[in-house]
Amino acid sequence: MTSLSKNALQILKERYLLKDRDGNIIETPQQLFRRVATCVASCEEEQKNVFEEQFYEILNNLLFLPNSPTLMNAGCRNGQLSACFVLPIADSLEAIFSTLKHAALIHQSGGGTGFNFSKLRPKNDFVSTTSGTSSGPVAFMKVYDAATEYVKQGGKRRGANMAILNVNHPDIEEFITSKSSKKAIKNFNISVGITDDFMKAVQQDLSWQLINPHTKKVAKVVKAKAIWQLIVNQAWRTGDPGLIFLSTINILNPTPKMGDIESTNPCGEVPLLNYESCNLGSVNLSKMILKKDLKFEIDWKKLTKTVQLGIRFLDNVITLNHYLLPQIKSITMANRKIGLGVMGWAELLILLEIPYASVEAVSLAEKIMQFIKNESYKASEKLARERGVFPEWKNSIYAPNLKLRNATCNSIAPTGTISVIADTSYSIEPLFAIAYDRIGILGNKRQTEINKLFIQKMKQLNVWNDKLKKTILNAGSIQSTRLVPQSIKSIFKTSLEIPWKYHLMHQQAFQKHTDNAVSKTINLCEDTTEEDISRIFMTAWKYKLKGITVYRHGSKINQVIQKCNLN
Ligand code: UDP
Repeated sequence: MTSLSKNALQILKERYLLKDRDGNIIETPQQLFRRVATCVASCEEEQKNVFEEQFYEILNNLLFLPNSPTLMNAGCRNGQLSACFVLPIADSLEAIFSTLKHAALIHQSGGGTGFNFSKLRPKNDFVSTTSGTSSGPVAFMKVYDAATEYVKQGGKRRGANMAILNVNHPDIEEFITSKSSKKAIKNFNISVGITDDFMKAVQQDLSWQLINPHTKKVAKVVKAKAIWQLIVNQAWRTGDPGLIFLSTINILNPTPKMGDIESTNPCGEVPLLNYESCNLGSVNLSKMILKKDLKFEIDWKKLTKTVQLGIRFLDNVITLNHYLLPQIKSITMANRKIGLGVMGWAELLILLEIPYASVEAVSLAEKIMQFIKNESYKASEKLARERGVFPEWKNSIYAPNLKLRNATCNSIAPTGTISVIADTSYSIEPLFAIAYDRIGILGNKRQTEINKLFIQKMKQLNVWNDKLKKTILNAGSIQSTRLVPQSIKSIFKTSLEIPWKYHLMHQQAFQKHTDNAVSKTINLCEDTTEEDISRIFMTAWKYKLKGITVYRHGSKINQVIQKCNLN
């Protein structure tokens, strides 16, 4: 078995290992992996023990990990195993508060919720039941935010939310600026729901109609560019809002007859229909390697095997899941959406000695994700032969030729916690820093860390010494020191040292072969301009990404990882 890192052990002890009523830990990490494997194999009809062993092996060797709720709750009574949900918000007080109750139950179980608030009538609109005026979407978002604040997820993590407002809603300006004040909404990522028509209106500098969803009448006419500028300015100042490209999402909706997709889950990697849920899992790419003639190369056989097992694992989770609401159970079982993705991409590139900011890395990203998608679909087809196609298959884009068990197979999640458990780099992100203070992993201590692959490399080259260590800890970067060879510098470039074009190209490369979406943050230096952000957003749309999030360094006070500065 692979030994777990100090950080992994700390997180597992704090949040994942089962505890008794007095708070004493009652399982080891190996017992956790066994609990998950036994539970997930329990619906196998034949060769249950063989699958249990295979699931255990990929978990225990950190080749694949499912999303946190599965690690926390599998094998427990009423175990809710999914990370992602989308809930509807209809335009009535009853509907708003009934969805809020459902969201609270989901947060309590470890899941995150996405909502599109666009059906709500705008602020100051007429309300017939009271003859009064409405509060509008942003006011209700604040109610949801406050509720989320007080419902900690199973005591283990705080509820994550996504709020979307469509770009033609009359309250769109208030929404765009809703995270900029001191009393800002805390527990929401916010994204503007963007259509192709709007993007064309921006390009051609046309006017843009804001439509009251209740009366369907035009409430206001503005310049599309004015809304665009406001979005860009806010994203430059605070990182919010992001954009969700609803037209792109719906062109690729696998079940269009079941209605349009209006929202994604909190981090954007899964577009879902109302009440749909999705469970995720990620292959640890940094372990998909073998050594040949003293160099690493990709172990395609190991990757195939891991993907096949990962898809089977996630399909089993749908069968075994405890669903909190009958509506969630019904649509989730009808489409059986799963999202197998990756983590450790940056570390794989380092092991292969390919710089992240290179065309070679981008084409490998495409190749590897295309491979994963093909293997995922093969595995889902095999499951369809064994267990049947997903119930809504006949109404899906796959009928009549491609018989699949799952309406979607792939998503690239942020892997915020599971990559720490697997001791690898997050998702498809480049390294954030070579040396850093990690704060807030458990909301408390600061700890200084130097990237393990960098230390290994320096030791191999016989140049690792105290002077180098001190220099790196002080600078947080290796780019300006002469103690590190140039060839090493380029493979260890960190997030802010990588031009935004390469961030976007990686996102595009992975998105091309991901049927759901890719969660990625385009990390930018402090001196990035509003024009740059405008160009990034425009390019993201042209690249047919499903969503885009930027973050300009220093524009939020609390960052989980900070560059090291020991002066
Ligand atoms: N999520 C959540 N709360 C959190 C972190 C994540 O509800 O604190 C949900 C959210 O839907 C997100 C998804 O889990 O999009 C996957 O996030 P991530 O990959 O970071 O989760 P992990 O499995 O690593 O904990």
